[in-house]
Amino acid sequence: MSIPNSKLAEAKRLCHERRSAVCVDQKRRGLHRELLEERPHWSVLKRQEQYATIDRGEKVPFDIAVPLPAKDPRSPEETSGGVELFWETFECAHCGRCCYTPGAGLYLEKEDMERICKHLGWSMKKLKKLCHYDKSLKIWALKQPCPFYDREAKKCTIYPVRPLTCTRYPLHPPLKEMPYHLAVDAFCPAARELVKETLGWWIICENNWKDILEMMGR
Ligand code: SF4
Ligand code: SF4
Repeated sequence: MSIPNSKLAEAKRLCHERRSAVCVDQKRRGLHRELLEERPHWSVLKRQEQYATIDRGEKVPFDIAVPLPAKDPRSPEETSGGVELFWETFECAHCGRCCYTPGAGLYLEKEDMERICKHLGWSMKKLKKLCHYDKSLKIWALKQPCPFYDREAKKCTIYPVRPLTCTRYPLHPPLKEMPYHLAVDAFCPAARELVKETLGWWIICENNWKDILEMMGR
């Protein structure tokens, strides 16, 4: 029997609100391996197709949902585990693509600009020469490729004071259709690997949604 979208959306919302910590713990402990043994077809079906879709990120800009709860600003304490497990699992390949790719958005908060200027002993005017002003968003953005990326040494020359947006990359805001899950920029090769490696975690989410749907049906 098919489940109405609105009911499933409500189950996902409740799951995020009440089970975030539990699901992070289940994923960290690898519960999905047990579940996948019970439903072996789940992990095999369409896997190559899914990998091919993920790998499109190499050329086409898009975001992918990750089976980890996004932080809820209303209760960040209870829902921060997903972000923590993400950073425990993510391994940057230090390819530098996010730093030197033209077109990548690199907006600077006021605090970023102040911190960078202080670190370099620069005036704001000098830093702004490396930026452009986005009139629609009313925010400064570093020109791309990032002027602070050293391509020979393959590293950021302002790493300790790099912009907040760099410290969060490859995490992007959740997708509209998946508002309770973290999302990553598919352009990052290490993020694509993480998405492939954690596909099995979705079975834990499915299991939790199923339990909640059953409780809602009572
Ligand atoms: S694109 Fe991803 S893997 Fe490459 S340096 Fe940036 S965060 Fe690391
Ligand atoms: S500031 Fe540093 S981390 Fe951020 S894009 Fe530039 S080189 Fe990369």
